[in-house]
Formats: sequence, structure tokens, C-alpha cells
Amino acid sequence: MISVAIDGPSGAGKSSVAKKAAELFGLVYVDTGAIYRTIGLAAFNRGMNTKDADVIIPFLPELDIDMRYNENGEQRMFLFGEDVSSRIRTPEISMCASNVSAIPEVREYLMDMQRNMAKKYDVIMDGRDIGTVILPNADLKIFLTASPEARADRRYKELIQKGNNVTLDAVLEDMKKRDAQDSGRKTAPLAAAADAVYLDTSDMTLEESVSAVCRLISEKTGKKLK
Ligand code: C5P
Repeated sequence: MISVAIDGPSGAGKSSVAKKAAELFGLVYVDTGAIYRTIGLAAFNRGMNTKDADVIIPFLPELDIDMRYNENGEQRMFLFGEDVSSRIRTPEISMCASNVSAIPEVREYLMDMQRNMAKKYDVIMDGRDIGTVILPNADLKIFLTASPEARADRRYKELIQKGNNVTLDAVLEDMKKRDAQDSGRKTAPLAAAADAVYLDTSDMTLEESVSAVCRLISEKTGKKLK
């Protein structure tokens, strides 16, 4: 089995790059942030304080979360049987995801779901702790990053395109807050694995980032483009 881990802060382009590389190499793309987002949404829907471990931990056994792939190979998230893949993408739910993800029991609860994917399929998995915690033996680990300004600009354009009413300043502020929380938490903080390849995409187009990642995948796994 082949596994590629891509970690990095929000807006670095992990999902766009990983999705494209998955398609080119015939790998399964696993977006782990979507799973944390689904828990964040579930708690938000119940009006819970997403930072309160005493409320979130007893809620976990009640949850019915499913990750499925549609006929186009796209990952879809289901919460109590309902497809919530679009609803988990708002800035509000991003913060809820960051809040619940800082609770160690939440991370433990999602560990098998993530590792099982890598046991069953050749994967390219993105997140914050894939190279450090989830797949420490990944064939290739990449830490994908970019300047806060470049990342905020990309995220802003993405949100506007999806019809969200946001300003660039607000996106930058939200992103800095979320990154600080993700990097500063005690359990599995956002960090590069010691053996990760560091890739700064601030001045790269999406195509250039994809090429750089594809080159690394070929070198490290011996896998050829489909
Ligand atoms: O990647 P994405 O921005 O969708 O992730 C949403 C949030 O989920 C992150 O801000 C982070 O707090 C959390 N997350 C995590 N570990 C992962 C993936 C995401 O803690 N492997």
C-alpha cells in the first residue's frame, strides 16, 4: 500500500493539490479536515459550546458520521444519513472544527477511521497531523505552506466563489486565529514531521504546486502517472 501525507496550515492549497495528484496517480484522496468539520457541525447544530470537552466527549458515541465516495471519486461527508459536504465549508464551522479537534478524545475517536483508509487503499491524505501521528510510516510526507497573506487571498476567493459574504480582512483574521489554535494545542498540533519535505507555495500557481508534489510522489513511491 502506498501512502502520502500532506500537512500544513489552512489555505496552503493542500486539498486542491492532493485532489489533483490523487487523480493523476490513481490514489484515493482523504480529506481529514472534513471529518473534524462534520463533528464541529454536529455540535454546532445542537447549540453546544464546541470548546467544552465535558459536552463534546459524551456526544461522540451518539454521532453517526460516514465518509463515502461518489461515482466521481469525490469524498462526501454524511451526518445522521444526510450529505453535509457543503454545509461544513463555512467559516463558522471551520472554527467549530478547530475547537473540537483540540479535544484529545475527539482525535482518538477519529483515528481508526483515518488509519483504516490507508490500510485498504493507496491514499493521499491531508490534514494537520497525518505525517506526525496518523501515518508515521507514510512513504512520503509533505508539509505544504504559504505566507498568511497568500493563503488568506486564496481562501477568500474560494469563499466568494461559493457565494459566502466575507471580506479579505475577516478571512485573514479567522485564518490566523485558527492556525494559532491548531499549532498551539497540546495534542497532535499542526507540525511538520521531522522527515517531511517542506514546500512553500506562496509564489507558485496551483499547476506548479501540483507538478512539484507529483515529482515527489514519483521519486519516493516509484509510482507512475496514470
Ligand atoms: O483542513 P481543514 O481546514 O478542513 O480542517 C478544519 C480543521 O480541522 C482544522 O482547522 C483543524 O483544527 C482540524 N484538523 C485537525 N487535524 C486534521 C485535519 C483537520 O485537527 N488532520
